[in-house]
Amino acid sequence: MLKVGLTGGIGSGKSTVCRLFADLSVPIIDTDVIARQLVEPGQPALSRLAAAFGAAIVNPDGSLDRARLRQLAFSDPLHKRQLDAIMHPLIFKEMEAQITRLRAIYCLLVIPLLVETQNNYTLDRMLLVDCPEQVQIQRVMSRDKVGREQAMAVIAAQATRQQRLALAHDVIDNTAAPERLAEQVKRLHNSYLLLATAGTT
Ligand code: ATP
Repeated sequence: MLKVGLTGGIGSGKSTVCRLFADLSVPIIDTDVIARQLVEPGQPALSRLAAAFGAAIVNPDGSLDRARLRQLAFSDPLHKRQLDAIMHPLIFKEMEAQITRLRAIYCLLVIPLLVETQNNYTLDRMLLVDCPEQVQIQRVMSRDKVGREQAMAVIAAQATRQQRLALAHDVIDNTAAPERLAEQVKRLHNSYLLLATAGTT
């Protein structure tokens, strides 16, 4: 199966693009969704996080206190590395398990931090949803109701636009109105179908 990794910075439009691929019945596995499922109450990943960061990261109802964990992870690079060391292999393993269950010739793997964690993944193509940082900032501010500084801080903690562009095989330009996306998605879909078919013959 052809594996296409979809990535892009915060607010670049990954979810928006995914909906268009989903409309074309492309199977989509999203590592953010997996990460959230892995830390649901009672899941082993949550116990491992509690063992590493203390029981205080678990709310009285057994759910993860995300704000507390985020605060811990961003206050100390060692904590961030510990968190990544626990979560990344589990996310990767679950993604691989889900891939084996798919019946399709190609699939889309949404990996927001693909450039930051690229060594873990074996992908056939890397698809980037791209727009200028100023556009990202505006969209994050209006979607998440946060200030410019906060939006800029998240962007600064991620890989740069140049780093992503340097690694991408395919780029979707999401600078203009969303109506401009469907045509780009259809064109890429056709080329992935062709590539996937060529790979199976
Ligand atoms: P995250 O990294 O936070 O998960 P994302 O990359 O999935 O974000 P989206 O949620 O798809 O990004 O888009 C970010 C915001 O920008 C959303 O509110 C979305 O509706 C809006 N948006 C996406 N594409 C466009 C566009 N072409 N024009 C205007 N607004 C857009």
